[in-house]
Amino acid sequence: MRAAVTESAGGLLAVTDVPDPEPGPGELLVRVTACGLCGSDLHLSEVLDLPGLVLGHEICATVAELGQGVNDWKVGERIVGFPLIGCETCDACRSGATSKCSQAAQLGLARPGGFAEYTTLSASSAFRIPTSIDDHIGALVEPLAVAHHALDCTPRATDEPILIIGGGPVGAAVAAWARHLGAREVVVSDPVARRRELAEHLGATLTIDPIKEDVASAFAKQCGALPNVVLECVGTRGMIQHSMDVAAVDAQVTVVGVCIGPDDFMPLVGLQKELLTKFVLYYRKADFTATIAALASGALDPRPMVTGTTSFEDLPDRFEALKNPVDDCKVILEP
Ligand SMILES: [Zn+2]
Ligand SMILES: [Zn+2]
Repeated sequence: MRAAVTESAGGLLAVTDVPDPEPGPGELLVRVTACGLCGSDLHLSEVLDLPGLVLGHEICATVAELGQGVNDWKVGERIVGFPLIGCETCDACRSGATSKCSQAAQLGLARPGGFAEYTTLSASSAFRIPTSIDDHIGALVEPLAVAHHALDCTPRATDEPILIIGGGPVGAAVAAWARHLGAREVVVSDPVARRRELAEHLGATLTIDPIKEDVASAFAKQCGALPNVVLECVGTRGMIQHSMDVAAVDAQVTVVGVCIGPDDFMPLVGLQKELLTKFVLYYRKADFTATIAALASGALDPRPMVTGTTSFEDLPDRFEALKNPVDDCKVILEP
């Protein structure tokens, strides 16, 4: 089958023929119909020297073959893949918090992922999707589950106005969910005009250009008070400090952006305001269930997040282009 594989850290992906995967016991072989390109794929390809790795964890697919012992699935069923595979026996796994299992392995990292015609995953990690969820929307389930988990971990009143720092794919997904879950104001701050526009299509009630405007006062003007709930969705140096600076006293600051380098912030700001902070990563299986239900009914419509598609031929170039600040939100591989 064809797959896009890494060759060296920071190098181009290579589209090549690799052996067809075979489903192990308890696994499904699935034909990938759509796979989102994720910021974490970009980071991983920059820093990890793992030649031959098939990235991709935002997977929508069709069941192609059943592994030994799998009897509750049929060939042809459409699925989205929960990309974490754990031991399935520890407390974390049993509660659906697979990311906290000491043996957790991620599709597209520890196992081959979705930048391929076929991949395999544990049958218990596959979620059925109805026909009302098309392949593109199916590929958005994983990033939307990230956003759902972030909001689920953020204590707040249902209609509390929310400030989202960053309108990239994570911030966009948080904006869509926040509005759907009942926030009366959803404010997104991002210096890129196209991202602000996209956030408005996804339900943001106000967008702010942080280069031109004071974020805290623009928020307060719209919402009547400084932000009690701030979600940091950028993940670059200085953004935690910025989130603390713009927050109201006693505010909740949730860190969603994945910063993989050292960062610094002034604890005194948090102390003076007595901020509550929470760091979040990944999701639980319940976040997939909630996301699929909201998408199936049409109540949550994240379609504006999809700003492009790519074939295998164009994937290496599209992937490279996404490494620089861009106007794209989600680009989806159609293998
Ligand atoms: Zn992702
Ligand atoms: Zn486990």
